[in-house]
Amino acid sequence: MRLVLLGAPGAGKGTQAKKLIEKYGIPQISTGDLLRAAVAAGTSLGKEAKSFMDKGELVPDRVVLGMVEERLKQDDCKKGYILDGFPRNTAQAEALDKMLDTLKVPLTAALSVDVPFDDLMKRLTGRRTCKGCGQMYNVFFNAPKKDGKCDKCGGELFQRDDDKEETIKKRLDVYSSQTAPLFDYYKKKGILSSVNGTGSIDEIFKAVCNSLGLK
Ligand code: AMP
Repeated sequence: MRLVLLGAPGAGKGTQAKKLIEKYGIPQISTGDLLRAAVAAGTSLGKEAKSFMDKGELVPDRVVLGMVEERLKQDDCKKGYILDGFPRNTAQAEALDKMLDTLKVPLTAALSVDVPFDDLMKRLTGRRTCKGCGQMYNVFFNAPKKDGKCDKCGGELFQRDDDKEETIKKRLDVYSSQTAPLFDYYKKKGILSSVNGTGSIDEIFKAVCNSLGLK
């Protein structure tokens, strides 16, 4: 399976990708996670990316494309992968197709996780992530048992810098104008399907698996 997960920030793509990894053992490639790791490591790529991320804008295509190309060449991607948060605009989608054409391994599916726009704000402002194991919580819908601590590993929970209210608005605007056109792009290719992204994580996962023809 070579899958693109589409959906607005806060739609739950990352959560569903993590469940797919657990069940099917294929890697998730999240450009947001790769960029945040570069920022944390203080690399020159990270320094360049940070100024765009803090404003809720897209990092330039050349930075992201180089990073994705490197990642796709790694051995664990041979059995498939889930692209999460990439592509984010038509230029990236076209560049990805070109890359995969050369390797003769086209995408097998694009799946959108649909959540009403009004719900996204609460999901994003409430989102917290564990510093230790990456487990995600939401202070409104899925709060940890102990404030600020991970139920799984006891690690400290943090709020992403770009999950602050003023940046979220910009990210949602960028999504509508630059990423939403990808629905048409993949529909035209005949590989797009969608699931309702509201409900419990397990219900949504069931719909995801059904839609992808997975057992
Ligand atoms: P995410 O975790 O996917 O919401 O990404 C967080 C931020 O990283 C975005 O707001 C962008 O600034 C940047 N980013 C992530 N993926 C991409 C991408 N494919 N193209 C450009 N910027 C990206």
